[in-house]
Amino acid sequence: MIPNDFIQTLLARVDIVDVIDRHVPLKKAGTNYAACCPFHNEKTPSFTVSPAKQFYHCFGCGAHGTAIGFLMEYAGKSFPDAVEDLAREAGLDVRARSARGSPAPRPDPRPRRTAAHRRQVLPGAVEGRPAPSTT
Ligand code: ZN
Repeated sequence: MIPNDFIQTLLARVDIVDVIDRHVPLKKAGTNYAACCPFHNEKTPSFTVSPAKQFYHCFGCGAHGTAIGFLMEYAGKSFPDAVEDLAREAGLDVRARSARGSPAPRPDPRPRRTAAHRRQVLPGAVEGRPAPSTT
């Protein structure tokens, strides 16, 4: 399971024009980029890529999606594979994304027990030892 915020971060980091241009040479056409659609046969380009929206769209066959969707459709990758590919390019680690390179420290799920002011240690207060079964 890949968290949605990771997908958003990833799509913000990669440029769909770069990703698609590597597979399908794109030509600038106004604010968008165009190419002959890789998903159906055509002689005039109806496949467009919007750098602003980070989407591709084909007016011929209706193919539509993000950089991740393109890799899935074009290269036949599974969703996690496509995400991992792009993450590697973007320098993001999909598996250990909080381990390094993250500005936010990982919150410790365990509450800290600061009992330093307590000098007394109660006898017999041993935690985590299961009572022996006498039955
Ligand atoms: Zn098409």
